[in-house]
Amino acid sequence: MKTLKLAAALAAAALLAACGQGGGGAANVDGSRIAAGAPGEWLSYGRTYDEQRHSPLDKINASNVGQLGLAWFYEFDTDRGQEATPLMVDGVLYTTTAWSKVYAFDAKTGALKWSYDPKVEGAKGFDACCDVVNRGVAVWKGRVYVGALDGRLIALDAATGREVWSVQTTDTSRPYTITGAPRVIKDKVLIGNGGAEYGVRGYLSAYDAATGKLVWRFYTTPNPNGQPDNAASDKAMSEKGAATWFGEGWKATGGGGTVWDAMAYDPELDILYAGVGNGTPWNHQKRSDGKGDNLFLSSILALKPDTGEYVWHYQTTPGESWDYTATQHIILADLTLDGQPRKVLMQAPKNGFFYVLDRATGQLLSAKPYVPITWATGVDMATGRPIETPGARYTDAPSLQVPAPFGAHNWHPMAFNPTEGLVYIPAQVLPFGYVDDAGYQHRPGAWNVGTDFLANALPDDQAQIAAVKAMVKGQLIAWDPVAQQARFTIEHPFFWNAGVLSTAGGLVFQGAAQGEFAAYSAADGKKLWSYPTQNGVIAAPSTYEIDGEQYVALMVGYGGAGALSAPAFLPDRPRLPGRLMVFKLGGTAQAPAYEIPEPPTIDLTGVSSRGDLRRGFELYHQNCQVCHGPNAGGAFLPDLKRSQMLLGEESWKSVLIDGALAPRGMASFSRFIDARGAEDLRAYVLSEARKTSRAPTVEGARGPAPKT
Ligand code: CA
Repeated sequence: MKTLKLAAALAAAALLAACGQGGGGAANVDGSRIAAGAPGEWLSYGRTYDEQRHSPLDKINASNVGQLGLAWFYEFDTDRGQEATPLMVDGVLYTTTAWSKVYAFDAKTGALKWSYDPKVEGAKGFDACCDVVNRGVAVWKGRVYVGALDGRLIALDAATGREVWSVQTTDTSRPYTITGAPRVIKDKVLIGNGGAEYGVRGYLSAYDAATGKLVWRFYTTPNPNGQPDNAASDKAMSEKGAATWFGEGWKATGGGGTVWDAMAYDPELDILYAGVGNGTPWNHQKRSDGKGDNLFLSSILALKPDTGEYVWHYQTTPGESWDYTATQHIILADLTLDGQPRKVLMQAPKNGFFYVLDRATGQLLSAKPYVPITWATGVDMATGRPIETPGARYTDAPSLQVPAPFGAHNWHPMAFNPTEGLVYIPAQVLPFGYVDDAGYQHRPGAWNVGTDFLANALPDDQAQIAAVKAMVKGQLIAWDPVAQQARFTIEHPFFWNAGVLSTAGGLVFQGAAQGEFAAYSAADGKKLWSYPTQNGVIAAPSTYEIDGEQYVALMVGYGGAGALSAPAFLPDRPRLPGRLMVFKLGGTAQAPAYEIPEPPTIDLTGVSSRGDLRRGFELYHQNCQVCHGPNAGGAFLPDLKRSQMLLGEESWKSVLIDGALAPRGMASFSRFIDARGAEDLRAYVLSEARKTSRAPTVEGARGPAPKT
């Protein structure tokens, strides 16, 4: 009897252990499986640890891509930006949408297996500089990991979507967010965070994949209180980092340096690479009295994944002052340079230089501008430092610079085709007027960049607007990292670009803002196929094979930083629900046409405000521009000029001060604006609304009813 009981207990324990390992064996991914590169699958954010986003699949190729059609699609419940790369593991497709929701589909049929909503509070949208987006999940040993916008890291059962554990990775009293995809290395889930425009201290954390326990943390800026953190970064910070910071500005904000996107891993060298973001405030004068490199801002960090121990760093933009992050996509590859095989790391960060580094040592091998830039003339190969243009730091006078804070390249994933030896960069060309914010003071929780956004309000003159628009564009650049030049460039009409996929079929896939998904020849850029997605694309596609058929999966849905804060340079289109679209050769599925909502109309007859229009203009560009666009020109978030709330002082105040629309992401601004300021803002937006009603063709005048 006793033996029987023991056997039953052992069996129960074994069953529990099996469940703990992932509910019946779904998605039993581990490091060797990711490293082996599973040709038919897409097991990690960048497909493999080297993040090349190049699939060995070639069933879809240059000779037959014209027959590519829709296999299946799914429409989501959110019309905010869609940035995720779908993962495909064991026949199941895992993706995320805006608001950090997770979905699992049968990858062949599109049948929904489960979905998970972390129920992020709408008001958290206030802290998201760049839309309430999410770039995807990690999968490991039967579990699916997602970073939620509110800073939670959540483990789900891959078979059922049931929550296994959840940990808060951030201080909830600070404006931290998570939009990036976790990676898993040796049973540790790696996750960073965002929030550097508002004022946070950046770091990268490793959590035990089984339990959610914090294993190590690496801070990218010194502890403002001057004490060690008892963290993995302590040694590097005391030996290299701390002495590069000056003054008091960074102490109030935490200095920035968020690790919000790029990671890669070399299993042979056992080194993890992570990209570090910009400083808070942006303005180096305001952050560090204009002195010091401010390590490890805008740097590539090489760390030991087991401990977070520092190996090396390379800082792309010392004393960063322009929002020039180095969080952009990191690709590891083997290149032949000067006849020598080299293990390299490649990055095209916001500052416009394409860097090739030795990934074992961090040695700079080359740095060349991949778009025309003005802030620097080159990189000194002896010191590894940029040669800055006089005046670029806007200390004595305003300065118009390329790239803009959007970057010459943002989060949109690149891809590397090892056969062609080309990196395909979704690049952006646009200028920005950097102006010292003379009256800068840290406002906890608000936009804290120390540059004056008033200068970037659009002129009233339509001809001037048209001239600026003519300069602004997107590109898909096929960059040869050995020759350090573009082999070919595909021009896009809109700057806010989309992620890229490369395949052994000799194809490069990329979506576009205007609502198109296209395949280009990897060798010469010739467009071989295109499909009207009806809605803008910013995400990168992935590809996989099931039962001998190759599929290409793409998240469709416009949004992100570009859509929020530069609507005048983007397609005039209302927000539409996101869709997952999956293609295969001979696919015949049809996605219905979107119902295009009618732009709301507003009758301003007899409406007036006693507010101060000029002060409203200033308040608007200090507080509202980043989400609603310059000159109240927002097309992506609800168009304030068409809002019924504009008709009365009380209704306006109910949103701005009382937070009536907080559940939709429009939090109360009562921390930053009083009732009088709110009325000044209404006076300004009314004046812009009157201009629009006189000239109804102005772009951005169209805006759908808010959804989610
Ligand atoms: Ca930034």
